[in-house]
Amino acid sequence: MSYHYIYGPIPSRRLGRSLGISPIPDKTCNFSCIYCMLGRTDHLTNEREEYFKLEDILAELDDALRHVSPPPDHISIVGNGEPTLYLRLGDLIRGARELTSIPIAVITNGALLSEPAVREALAEADIVLTSFNAPTEELFRRIDRPCPGIAFEAMKQGLLDFAHMPRRGQLWVEMMLLEGINDSPETLEQTRWVLQDVEP
Ligand code: SF4
Repeated sequence: MSYHYIYGPIPSRRLGRSLGISPIPDKTCNFSCIYCMLGRTDHLTNEREEYFKLEDILAELDDALRHVSPPPDHISIVGNGEPTLYLRLGDLIRGARELTSIPIAVITNGALLSEPAVREALAEADIVLTSFNAPTEELFRRIDRPCPGIAFEAMKQGLLDFAHMPRRGQLWVEMMLLEGINDSPETLEQTRWVLQDVEP
């Protein structure tokens, strides 16, 4: 069976051997980060959609889990873009869990943590790895170049709300350090102030 939505397992420093699920079309994202290894975002959008049928993704995962040996350390939902744009993310996590006891991670840029439905979906994951690259709106816009309509304060509040809501798993926060842009002692101190309330 050739796969459209499943890839790997790939070696990941953070997640060991990681079997990936990509629930969105390539380069579909609500950010266009200056450091993105995929280049500039082709499809800059903040619209959540069921881009691919949930049943098709789960059928591929089911098949992959039967053939991948040894089993992966994690299932990671990410792809070449932003996975929280997948409207049925919560159903995807629950469906994957019915197929396997392997821990399920979601790697997100965190923009949609401002939405209660996205927080509820992410609360189902065993690990949520979210980005937080800038403690101020100005730096955020310079580094992540978000889709119009994404508000920095709402995103930051969403991260705090997610950190303190009942959820199944761990919250990891990742910051991409960019020389001369967000690596000054002042910026790191501001970031520390935000993240100490998040307690990742
Ligand atoms: S959030 Fe991720 S996929 Fe989207 S532009 Fe930034 S680095 Fe690329």
